[in-house]
Amino acid sequence: MTTAASARLIGELTFPEVSERLRATSILILPLGSIEQHGPHLPLNTDAVLAEGIARLIVGKWGEAFDLWQLPTISVSLAHEHEWAPGTLSLSVAGMTAYLHDLGRAIAKSLPTRNLMIVNGHGGNRGILEALTRELRAERGLNICVLHPASYAGAAADGSVPEIHGGRNETAMMLAIAPHLVRKDRISSLKNPPDTDKIRDTILQRGVTWPWHSDEEGLFDTGIGGDPAAATAAFGQQIVIRVVETAGDVLKQLLQRPRA
Ligand SMILES: [Zn+2]
Repeated sequence: MTTAASARLIGELTFPEVSERLRATSILILPLGSIEQHGPHLPLNTDAVLAEGIARLIVGKWGEAFDLWQLPTISVSLAHEHEWAPGTLSLSVAGMTAYLHDLGRAIAKSLPTRNLMIVNGHGGNRGILEALTRELRAERGLNICVLHPASYAGAAADGSVPEIHGGRNETAMMLAIAPHLVRKDRISSLKNPPDTDKIRDTILQRGVTWPWHSDEEGLFDTGIGGDPAAATAAFGQQIVIRVVETAGDVLKQLLQRPRA
């Protein structure tokens, strides 16, 4: 990813520029990734690369219109479900809670705006974010929302393989955003998840939640829940464009929310 001079990165400002350039109406964009196994064909930092890449594109498209400013990416988050795999790094629930509270406090203390959109690259963060954003709103006065890019991928073309992790959708987005990181030669040897009913019962059904993990017998294959062989850069581009376009409406809604 290249960094343009007008990248609107908080980290590239000097301290006087923070007061000169940001206002109470500015919106902060926080990419939130994860460092976790994504099968043998995608790197550990897939979720961080996608969150940061999509955040950069959102800032590129809407930065002037909404006065967006990108915060440094949080790369390590909650990934207990993948901890069986070497290289997966996970915070504890308590650690992540403390981290986001501290960051919320720092934002409220050191930046002129309370508007914050998190771009969440990791589905495993969804639950904790739903709970924590309420606290951050109530206790830190943040006007906050979370955008989940993976939710804009749409249903699988044939509907037969549920897309959970490292499959068609994530691989396609990586082919669009960071193709040099995709081990394309590894994809042909991968199998689809062995039991799609088990995925639906264990992960997708809304009536019960299970603390599943991605090396569970019969659930995924080689850490992958989805169909990476069906991934194309063009499909990845479609998803990313949809997310970036949608972000305009989300940012507009964020500014219309009742004040915290
Ligand atoms: Zn991922």
